[in-house]
Amino acid sequence: MNIDPILLSQKLIRCPSITPKNEGALEILEEYLTSLGFTCERLDFKGIVNLYAHKGSGHPHLSFAGHTDVVPLGDASLWTHDPFQGDIKDDQLWGRGTADMKCAIACFISALSRFLERDTFPGTLSLLITGDEEADAFYGTKHVLPILAQRGDIPDLCLIGEPSSLHKVGDTLKIGRRGSITGELTCYGKQGHIAYPQFTDNPIPRMLNCLKALYDHQFDTGTEVFEATRFEVTSIDAGNLATNIIPSKIEAKFGIRINTLQTEDSIRQAVSSICAKHAGKHDLTLTAHGNAYLTTDQDKISLIQKAVQNVTGHLPDINVTGATTDGRFISAYCPVIECGMREATMHQIDEHVAIEDIELLTKIYHSILTTFFSGK
Ligand SMILES: [Zn+2]
Repeated sequence: MNIDPILLSQKLIRCPSITPKNEGALEILEEYLTSLGFTCERLDFKGIVNLYAHKGSGHPHLSFAGHTDVVPLGDASLWTHDPFQGDIKDDQLWGRGTADMKCAIACFISALSRFLERDTFPGTLSLLITGDEEADAFYGTKHVLPILAQRGDIPDLCLIGEPSSLHKVGDTLKIGRRGSITGELTCYGKQGHIAYPQFTDNPIPRMLNCLKALYDHQFDTGTEVFEATRFEVTSIDAGNLATNIIPSKIEAKFGIRINTLQTEDSIRQAVSSICAKHAGKHDLTLTAHGNAYLTTDQDKISLIQKAVQNVTGHLPDINVTGATTDGRFISAYCPVIECGMREATMHQIDEHVAIEDIELLTKIYHSILTTFFSGK
């Protein structure tokens, strides 16, 4: 059976699975994977859907990880194509989740159908698909991995279908990602009339000094592959509607993208001590969304690079840029390499991928399957 990656992409896009909703997306995958002889198991938890599908047993074990949830539309009136119709126009497939990352899942399943038609394989093939990657990601991949680990179902390599390519599909692989920590800082003062500052305590200058110190602080200078850890403010708000009142408090929100030199603890220490020095009376809340990860298994990286080169004619670049992915959870168990669509339109209005890219990524995944299981 040869599964058409475009038709399957369209079916998935027609499920309005805005995170963490499922809207039938995983059931479609279950149907296709069952028809390919996979054993499908749902590991849903607290309303979050997860699918683990596997075929074969033992090692070598190649797993594909992905998510069927998508980010919200933003201003829906700005879309020129229905985000949940899967229209094909101008040689492009349009819709929310085309780039990130329903088409990649469809490409992998199509590649599986082509691979299984001709080849037998030693070991195990598996897919771990979650409906909770774009939101909190607490009960998705992070929740499922320990269950699989307990059974000994940990792959030798996990391929993630996140958008990774820059100009052309297959030009870049991600072998790591930065980690992410977000924070909220509230500085407290004493409200009063701005004409009588002597009776007040304005928290705004303290907040500004503190944020400046956080910007100026050199957490590190980066590593050979990662850029330096970076602090960015996303919001400053005193909630003050009057122009003649010094407010009693001001709140700021920020994010820190960390490299492998930092952990949640090291960031917590650095940020707390800067706030203690500059913020005066304050509350600080930090939320860790995962540490940075880096795959160092050169044999696996070379194997996948070669498999991609067999199709594209070019050895793909490797880098560690971009947003966090579920790779941060999976990398604690096995080497992770991310290979997917172009990043350009992900999360945007009128997200789309080129039809030819769907065929190209399917060929790349097919090549990865044959290369991985033949070991050359
Ligand atoms: Zn994604």
